[in-house]
Amino acid sequence: MAQNGEYGRELEQRTMKCFSIDLGGTHATCGLVEDDKILASETLNVEDAGSLAGILPRLAESLKRLNGGMIPQGGEVSGVAIGLPVIVDFYRGKALGSNGKYVDADKVDLQSWGRESLGLPLFAENDARMALLGEAYAGAGRGFENIVMITLGTGIGGVAMIEGKLLRGKHAQAGCIGGHLPVKVEGRKCTCGAVGCAEAEASGWALPLLVKEWPDIKDSSLRRYENIGFRELFSEAARGDRVACEIRDHCLRVWATVTVGLVHAYDPEIVIFGGGVMKSADIILPYIKSHVHKYAWTPWGKVEVRAAELGDNAALLGGIPMVSHAKPLSG
Ligand SMILES: [Zn+2]
Repeated sequence: MAQNGEYGRELEQRTMKCFSIDLGGTHATCGLVEDDKILASETLNVEDAGSLAGILPRLAESLKRLNGGMIPQGGEVSGVAIGLPVIVDFYRGKALGSNGKYVDADKVDLQSWGRESLGLPLFAENDARMALLGEAYAGAGRGFENIVMITLGTGIGGVAMIEGKLLRGKHAQAGCIGGHLPVKVEGRKCTCGAVGCAEAEASGWALPLLVKEWPDIKDSSLRRYENIGFRELFSEAARGDRVACEIRDHCLRVWATVTVGLVHAYDPEIVIFGGGVMKSADIILPYIKSHVHKYAWTPWGKVEVRAAELGDNAALLGGIPMVSHAKPLSG
């Protein structure tokens, strides 16, 4: 069992089951989870759903299917935990703001949906925080109480646990917008409205813009790609394409720089990296480790830098700590 602060102490006592939902922009994964094991799961394509309200009935059907076609009876399942790609107020179980994804999320009454569709209390959290809970409980963060997790993908997620507690803040934004720490004063305009955020300088959505604007791009094999992603970038760089190497190294510097910023902000023992880009962990981790150990001000010693262990299962496995340690909802 995990030993992460308040979560660890509580969870050692008993076995528990919950439903977990990891809702992304195009897919939703539903799971039936018991302690640190996923008993059953399925992934739904929700690309065409358009709104959160439109997806909920399909999520309820999926969860019932995972439970043998039944609504759980007699307290065998303790609750529903859902991770959403928006800002979420955990204590009120409510989405607050969306930055373009699921614009109806703040109007949906998730609590009522949980009670009426499944007869269960519902706990909602930002998806990146839920993934950090999963890694802390059952993955790379086991045994640590002070953790920063950075997710490198279409955007850059950055979340923090301090002294065994998820950092949330007054407006539920603390420690969940790590990708919007500024790294460049005269930088690119970001989706959040600011300029020069890490996410605007080196993320999945920024990469095509970066490639288009890079000097000498006409001499590079990268111009062959219409939709360039990090997989193509890293593989062209591995083949020795000079421009691909330069852009890859620029991204590594941005990620390492924002990591130093997050280490200074949150004083973690360990930084965990997740997301699709970590397929190239053999290049990314050594670079970031050496940069952080050189530049982060940590007179006590060296911050651990590790890859996430649970992949796409991290958020599902964050369900048990959410359901078991929730405080009463305030309305
Ligand atoms: Zn931003």
